[in-house]
Amino acid sequence: LLVARGVRKSFGKVEVLKGIDLTVHAGQVVCLLGPSGSGKSTFLRCVNHLERLDAGEIWVDGHLVGYRRSGGRKYEMRPREVADQRRDIGMVFQRFNLFPHRTALENVMEAPTYVLGRPREAVRQEALDLLRRVGLEERAGHRPGQLSGGQQQRVAIARALAMKPKLMLFDEPTSALDPELVGEVLDVMKDLAAAGMTMVVVTHEIGFAREVADHVVFMDDGLVVEAGPAAELIARPRHERTRAFLAKVL
Ligand code: ATP
Ligand code: MG
Repeated sequence: LLVARGVRKSFGKVEVLKGIDLTVHAGQVVCLLGPSGSGKSTFLRCVNHLERLDAGEIWVDGHLVGYRRSGGRKYEMRPREVADQRRDIGMVFQRFNLFPHRTALENVMEAPTYVLGRPREAVRQEALDLLRRVGLEERAGHRPGQLSGGQQQRVAIARALAMKPKLMLFDEPTSALDPELVGEVLDVMKDLAAAGMTMVVVTHEIGFAREVADHVVFMDDGLVVEAGPAAELIARPRHERTRAFLAKVL
């Protein structure tokens, strides 16, 4: 469902991604691990075409992300086309980025109502179902400021799901949370994985990676150092850099 080949990205003179290859099959959960500055967030942003690639290509569900081919040449898509393409990709960030003046329910309803122009009542029912799914049905009328960090992050997940994405990207979804709130967000992600969602998750939660991920990819300095089945890579990393990183976060 997601294929990245030779993805390169520089900011000024600094090459942040030095040729990333990654394949995620439909229904798989892949965790991206790596030290700060290794390029994990930049890679996720490339998948969503929030960043332009310097080289390589990314395919999501059989579509080349951000570019169109014509007459043997590649053209960048217009913003409108990029926006259409992004509907298939849900993204959840470290910071929840909810609309502060709207209720949980209104946050979840926002995109399907205004982007897709779907009928309000149907969207409302689906949004309530999604809030139930993340355990927040009774908080539907609360604004973000009236919710805990963990609850806000669960609303953010419901909001991403409201567009019925084929792929969900998570960038350290629990690292801004108080420790006692991490579990409730990871539980929602586990349910989502169990329901067959294809997910790429940047996280330092090794327990989650071991338990939920099919594959773990360890990145350092803009490169994939090693990748493999989650349990095996975590128990028996082959590279010294992976070992050193795991020793620090475990
Ligand atoms: P962290 O674990 O701290 O989130 P990361 O692996 O997500 O790290 P990135 O955020 O992808 O790392 O950043 C990789 C490198 O790219 C860093 O050195 C960062 O300073 C640089 N970088 C990221 N975005 C930009 C930008 N827009 N302009 C310039 N440099 C950037
Ligand atoms: Mg990051």
